[in-house]
Amino acid sequence: MSLKFEIQPAANPTPERERAAKLVDPGFGRIFTDHMAIVRYNHAKGWHDARIEARANFPLDPATAVLHYAQEIFEGLKAYKRDNGVNLFRPDANARRFRSSAERMAMAPLPEPVFIEAVEQLVRIDSAWIPGGEGSLYLRPFMIASEVFLGVKPSAEYIFAVIASPVGSYFKGGPAPVSIWVSENYTRAAIGGTGAVKCGGNYAASLRAQAEAIEHGCDQVVFLDAIERRYIEELGGMNVFFVFEDGSLSTPPLGTILPGITRDSIIALAKDSGTPVREEAYTIEQWRRDVASGKLKEAFACGTAAVISPIGKVCSASGDFQINGGVAGPVAMGLRKKLVDIQYGRAADPHDWIRKV
Ligand code: PMP
Repeated sequence: MSLKFEIQPAANPTPERERAAKLVDPGFGRIFTDHMAIVRYNHAKGWHDARIEARANFPLDPATAVLHYAQEIFEGLKAYKRDNGVNLFRPDANARRFRSSAERMAMAPLPEPVFIEAVEQLVRIDSAWIPGGEGSLYLRPFMIASEVFLGVKPSAEYIFAVIASPVGSYFKGGPAPVSIWVSENYTRAAIGGTGAVKCGGNYAASLRAQAEAIEHGCDQVVFLDAIERRYIEELGGMNVFFVFEDGSLSTPPLGTILPGITRDSIIALAKDSGTPVREEAYTIEQWRRDVASGKLKEAFACGTAAVISPIGKVCSASGDFQINGGVAGPVAMGLRKKLVDIQYGRAADPHDWIRKV
């Protein structure tokens, strides 16, 4: 199913000079483009009223379902400027994950072509907002339960929207290794829960653990499994990989973690070059032992925002350890370059990941 978007350009778009000034050092997530995509759902009409219009507030009744029971999902993907156009990286994968998030949260699933069309139309109308160099346009599709009703039940109405935010290079001066705090007090996801989907509630529940990481001088939190509290799951907003001395990689298996699109892409690229990749459970004790014995050479986190971040130090209540002397390792940096070159159209795209807009 597809929908025709009605295009209503903003009456007062940001003047060119003001936009250029905002793009000099956009940071992350505080600057927004002039437009948004919006599509509505109700049981009678299905998905309807698809529009690209000026970015504006949503008027919400105080009894709107999302404000009470957090029926909300989102996605994150990027548009990259290339020589004569724009590249989207695997928007079909985001569309698929969005639909499975909707199903888990008992929300109306958005047809994948509508998701992709909304993203493409927004990128087209706001393409002047894509920073050059190593910057990109971060796209945030999301859906909220918009029925005005206080009963606990799946909403009968939804709003799907896409907003866009220009972002600079994630690491100024090259990828700096991150330090991570192993959360022993909090878990992120349980079997049968919502760990594998991108719902806002997962992030609300992770903030206390992330604050604890910061209190301990670390950049990010890493969660353990909720049963034995020893298997590494993922960071608050990134998946994790381990690199061994025999050249192989391992990453935690899917189930209670978010199935990252960067994770999936790294597995494919590693396999392309003959690197064995295992999706297998790995404990924090084993990680510590493998670092001490020299068996583990590198570890890195991955996700849309930073692509690949080397992990330099692991801290926990039972002591800290450094990885690769606390500096970025060659495997992480090599994979990062491979992936970034595909995203910006500087390298061949053997898996057909790029969608040109
Ligand atoms: N795990 C979590 C919890 C995340 O929020 C993200 C970011 N979407 C990821 C992993 C990485 O996913 P992706 O590579 O699709 O950005």
